[in-house]
Amino acid sequence: MLKNPVSQTILHYVDAQFPLLYLNTFEETKVDSLIKSVAYGREILEWNASKGFVHFETKSPLLDSIKTVEEILYALSQDDELNGKILVLKDIHHFLDNPHVISTLKEIALKIYNGLETVLFLVSPVLKIPTELEKYITIIEIGYLEEQDVKQLVRRFLRDNQLPDIANELLDELTIAFKGLTEYEIVNILSLAYSKDGDLTKKDLELIYDQKFQVIKKSGILEMIPQNETIHEIGGLENLKSWLSNKAKVFKNMNKALEYGVDIPKGVLIAGLPGCGKSLNAKATAQLFGVPLLRLDMGRLLGKYVGESESNMRKAIKLAEAISPCVLWIDELEKAFAGIGNGANAEVATRLFGYFLTWMQEKNSPTFVVATANDISNLPTELLRKGRFDEIFYVDLPTAVDRKRIFEIHFTKRRRGDMAAIDFAELSRKTEGFSGADIEGVVKEGIERAFVSGKQQVTTQDMVSIIEDTASLSVLFKDKIKVLSDAYKKNHFKSASKS
Ligand code: ATP
Repeated sequence: MLKNPVSQTILHYVDAQFPLLYLNTFEETKVDSLIKSVAYGREILEWNASKGFVHFETKSPLLDSIKTVEEILYALSQDDELNGKILVLKDIHHFLDNPHVISTLKEIALKIYNGLETVLFLVSPVLKIPTELEKYITIIEIGYLEEQDVKQLVRRFLRDNQLPDIANELLDELTIAFKGLTEYEIVNILSLAYSKDGDLTKKDLELIYDQKFQVIKKSGILEMIPQNETIHEIGGLENLKSWLSNKAKVFKNMNKALEYGVDIPKGVLIAGLPGCGKSLNAKATAQLFGVPLLRLDMGRLLGKYVGESESNMRKAIKLAEAISPCVLWIDELEKAFAGIGNGANAEVATRLFGYFLTWMQEKNSPTFVVATANDISNLPTELLRKGRFDEIFYVDLPTAVDRKRIFEIHFTKRRRGDMAAIDFAELSRKTEGFSGADIEGVVKEGIERAFVSGKQQVTTQDMVSIIEDTASLSVLFKDKIKVLSDAYKKNHFKSASKS
């Protein structure tokens, strides 16, 4: 009995004579062991884009290695060449627009239907299915390594390189850090860590995270954001901050909470005016929860080809789940979903939206979603219903108390020594209708102006003169603010601030 659920699935398809199995994955090494586990002694033939026809075990080129995939496929499709064997074609997406390759694959598939005993594995990180082959191909997505696989891999690396074993505590931390990376990437990083100082210690976690930032960035859809903001750097928004602090208690004690009967936190939607701290909250949430922050760029997710956007969304969600526990920050939610029901991208947006809703509904991984949006008026109502997000907050312009606090926060960061002489209550009074970003801008400019004028200290008057020159958010967005505030109230969203 096979333990691995993916190999079980593959085995079912192989037994049922499904002709073309498309393994959609980055994990080439994992694929080899999976295929071997379902081969039951049958000969495995491999063709890959870099070396051509190779020995499956050793990857050394075979006599026919110079032949193209087209020639190899043609030769193997003759008579019963493939009978009793398995054929693996790697990085095949490069060749799936070649009419000869397509027709030969179709021919082999038909022969399999007629009793030829073989199975073809098409292996590629890119999903590309020619219409002519749609009926014959079965897609199998191979996910990321599980925690126990990562641990095994690290142990095997140590053994193979005759390196001393490491403490369990360090192994646990390394495992968390490696989650979401492929076997190949993990082995490379381990080699790099050892080549630096011949040892593997806690110090190497930094190196792993540096590499991981890069790998995730290369994926093109997700980005790992450094965590520099804490919840103490957010002025006001007390309701939201205390709600997040409660969720952090659950998140950090997930096992105990689940045992107690608490549900896994799903996520929060923070809607509101620009520059009022939505992004700041997303960043502070990850810090508060003590987990990595991944940002999903909705703009980049939307692809040019049919099915590409959904495939990108699936990939992003899979990667986030592999890295979990984490916070997944979906910025500008309205960009992807506002087009539902009309416009050129309506169909794609509707499918993406359906996928996202189902995932949110059924999600049971510790991937906490923080979705942020400026304008919710075009968002589909299904998204705003309870049960999708744990809560929906709206962020309004800061109150007088909050404005004072925001001034203090930005002064503390830059000119702590001058604070005793500043009249923060006066600054707050003079900035009604200013957003948090406006206030930060006033502090920055005031300090710069004082410096340029050669002053030893920044004064209240320096700030006031900048305030008088500033067009605040409420002036710039005069008409929109009322419409948005009314929409939030109509939808009964919770206010992020204490009123
Ligand atoms: P957008 O919708 O334009 O992305 P946003 O609501 O996400 O805006 P942020 O990016 O969080 O706004 O805020 C911009 C900057 O303004 C922050 O980096 C922060 O310095 C400052 N800021 C905004 N709100 C607050 C606040 N409540 N406390 C402290 N600083 C704030």
